[in-house]
Amino acid sequence: MKIGILSRNANLYSTRRLMEACRERDHEPEVIDVLRCYMNINTLKPSIHSKGEILEGHDAVIPRIGASVTFYGCAVLRQFETMGVYAVNGSDAINRSRDKLRSLQLLSGRQIGMPITGFASKPDDIKDLLDMVGGAPVVIKLLEGTQGIGVVLAETRKAAESVIEAFLGLKANIMVQEFIEEAGGADIRCFVIGDQVIAAMKRQAAEGEFRSNLHRGGSATLVELTEEERLTAVNAAAAMGLHVAGVDLLRSKRGPLVMEVNSSPGLEGIETATGKDVAGMIIDYIEQQVKSGG
Ligand code: ADP
Ligand code: GLU
Repeated sequence: MKIGILSRNANLYSTRRLMEACRERDHEPEVIDVLRCYMNINTLKPSIHSKGEILEGHDAVIPRIGASVTFYGCAVLRQFETMGVYAVNGSDAINRSRDKLRSLQLLSGRQIGMPITGFASKPDDIKDLLDMVGGAPVVIKLLEGTQGIGVVLAETRKAAESVIEAFLGLKANIMVQEFIEEAGGADIRCFVIGDQVIAAMKRQAAEGEFRSNLHRGGSATLVELTEEERLTAVNAAAAMGLHVAGVDLLRSKRGPLVMEVNSSPGLEGIETATGKDVAGMIIDYIEQQVKSGG
């Protein structure tokens, strides 16, 4: 098969591993930089071009679209979909998962556990909002943030009020969440492919830090999941419509709580922590889907 990997950089660990896994299975990978693509949108023969060449003959594409290029990346992906190319994650699902608030709203409709979350736009409503999520300590999150940047723990009510007021004053969209203290600065990354969790790791925050992101100095180890955690992760990915997803859970007194569902989960952390060939499993899944008509 000819498999397009929509990625801006062929040297990234995840992109390299996906190319390797394709070659090991006698497929032909092609890294496609979405920002270098331009499109002819028409009824008879929609097409995608890059650097003067027409991109064609792909059996499948793997979107690895960074948060900063979501709009253009999803437009290119949609064009591949229009042309009948199988996409392991669809553009609608990616768009859905990129909006943290919309994601939580979708999950809540499916009875999937999550931290109690409030959302407001006017400073007048801060007091009521804080009461709603159970009062301080609270976690305040910028909707546009990634890799733990823009995630703040406010330990007192006063601190929470000032931080929320400051963010709203800057016209930033934020959500306010109950702080899950018993998670102990750890979260669980569940790597979902199809309807299974194929690998999982526990990420522990660095000393004195509550955010467990590897980019914030967190460290990853192997973890055994409970049946409830597996089910929650698989249901969360399905609610988003993602076939490949990184579902982040917090372990709480009332069971697993979903924080986020990632549509381009990194491979380096999970392959290193678990020793599993996650890239290979993604390609195997694509083979099955393309064979069975996706
Ligand atoms: P990002 O998308 O920027 O990674 P997250 O929402 O995943 O932001 O938050 C970053 C980290 O902060 C999480 O991995 C987790 O360790 C911690 N965290 C986030 N929300 C909460 C919460 N409600 N309670 C406890 N810890 C949290
Ligand atoms: N690529 C980064 C990572 O591997 C961020 C995306 C994600 O959280 O999956 O952690």
